[in-house]
Amino acid sequence: MPELPEVETVRRQLHERIAGKTIREVSIFKTGRETPVGSKFVQAIVGRRLKGVERRAKVLVFRFDDGGVMLGHLKMTGKFVFVTGSRRVTPEKHDRIFFVFDSKTHLVWSDVRKFGYLKIATAGETLAALSHYGPEPLEAKPAELAERLKRKSSRTIKAALLDQTVIAGIGNIYADEALFRAGIRPTRKVNKLTDDERLLLAKHIKKVLAQSLAQKGTSSNDYIDTEGEKGGFQNFLRVYGREGDPCRTCKNSIKKILTAQRGTHYCVSCQK
Ligand SMILES: [Zn+2]
Repeated sequence: MPELPEVETVRRQLHERIAGKTIREVSIFKTGRETPVGSKFVQAIVGRRLKGVERRAKVLVFRFDDGGVMLGHLKMTGKFVFVTGSRRVTPEKHDRIFFVFDSKTHLVWSDVRKFGYLKIATAGETLAALSHYGPEPLEAKPAELAERLKRKSSRTIKAALLDQTVIAGIGNIYADEALFRAGIRPTRKVNKLTDDERLLLAKHIKKVLAQSLAQKGTSSNDYIDTEGEKGGFQNFLRVYGREGDPCRTCKNSIKKILTAQRGTHYCVSCQK
């Protein structure tokens, strides 16, 4: 699933290409994951000018000139890709919605797993959708993130990192990577971590997210950006997706276990 660095990469690229442009036409190839559904979605959105694209946690927030908002969530496999006009005539299998902006800017929304969504939202709905998230880790200070990591202290640190109300935007990849870099086992209970460990982890969360963002994210699964390009951070992963491979620090095999209902990768000797 795209996490903060991947969604932020998509946001930056979308903003650069479509901010200030008006949506001229919309074609729906596959309906059901847009709100309102079908022709009502088209009617609600055509003719509106996009002010810009923002992000909160893993949610894309398309803001229109008139104050309206469209929320977009990639979930597992949702993709926005800039394409040529011919894709409208011959859509690919998982293409769902085709947008035509000014200056022949064509954008397709596709989704293999169909968990992603686009939703035209009222101010109230937008507030409700975005209000429960924890702080943005790239913006918050390490001490603030460390403090957040004390919440609900009887569960594992892996579960805490995946909880979007604790810190926004972290998923399985960056939870595992930050824990490795901080030398902390994912199965440790939150209340067994020292203040120093929490602070160290907070610093590594910020660092690993920033490093991945600089590489335009991780494409160890099927993530691609709006230009159809892969990110580069999969080449820098230390534990995620490396089950059975030698640890880059100590050469022991990376282990994969189930924690917080998620596949969790760690090194037995580097993480205490
Ligand atoms: Zn190791």
